[in-house]
Amino acid sequence: MKDSNSKPDISRRAFLGGGAAVTGAGAAAALGGGVANSAVEGGAKKHYVMVIDARRCYGVQACTVACKAEYKVPLGENRSWVEEIEKGNYPNVTRSFLPRLCNHCDEPPCVPVCPTGATFKRDEDGIVVIDKDVCIGCKSCIQACPYDQRFLNEDTHTADKCDFCIHRVSQGLQPACVEACPSRARIFGDLNDPDSEVSRLIATNKVSVLRPGYGTEPNVYYIGADHTGENDHYAEFSYVDVKTNRRFAERR
Ligand code: SF4
Ligand code: SF4
Ligand code: SF4
Repeated sequence: MKDSNSKPDISRRAFLGGGAAVTGAGAAAALGGGVANSAVEGGAKKHYVMVIDARRCYGVQACTVACKAEYKVPLGENRSWVEEIEKGNYPNVTRSFLPRLCNHCDEPPCVPVCPTGATFKRDEDGIVVIDKDVCIGCKSCIQACPYDQRFLNEDTHTADKCDFCIHRVSQGLQPACVEACPSRARIFGDLNDPDSEVSRLIATNKVSVLRPGYGTEPNVYYIGADHTGENDHYAEFSYVDVKTNRRFAERR
């Protein structure tokens, strides 16, 4: 578990060597699939992505809880959550689940607005991070993220969001949410490795990203997900209800 009050284990200079200690159940589990031990080993650039197979998600929120526990996220906030989507025309209504987390965008609007450089995208693996030693809590990035993935952590007084569990990945472990998912709906890995599971899944399935029209080029890919497009709620449905399960907020 990583304490949200602890000093960050990231910087622009030394990211992955000597990361934070990993404790807790399952911490000894080795990474599966094509996920290598990050930049510590080979020095080759990674392109970390997450594939979420929505067909396997039953909305149990194990990922939400695991993420919250891993980072001691303050009450009322989450780094990850699972939305419940109901839509259709009576009596033909469907219900599906959409796990959400930072997309670690290739064109992240949260980065250029940061006045201190605290938010940046790492060259070595593409993870968008927040250096809490540099963040002044101005909230510019929170307003800039079109996916509402960021929040101000009331304990650290800095911006906060998913960091693809750098402290775990750097030690050859799976992200906490991936390890916790009982139906293996979340798969994490290196898209630069053609033999990785994420590469294979993306190559052999129809995938979507959240709101592709935003031009942010997300790195969270969905298989079989509903309600990822900009105009999904304008389609032929008379009834659309999305429970975000985050701050009790609703969205279209
Ligand atoms: S999802 Fe939001 S916070 Fe994450 S990289 Fe994209 S713009 Fe930034
Ligand atoms: S809240 Fe922190 S990370 Fe976000 S823009 Fe301000 S200084 Fe940068
Ligand atoms: S990768 Fe880590 S920080 Fe991101 S949603 Fe999963 S558990 Fe939370």
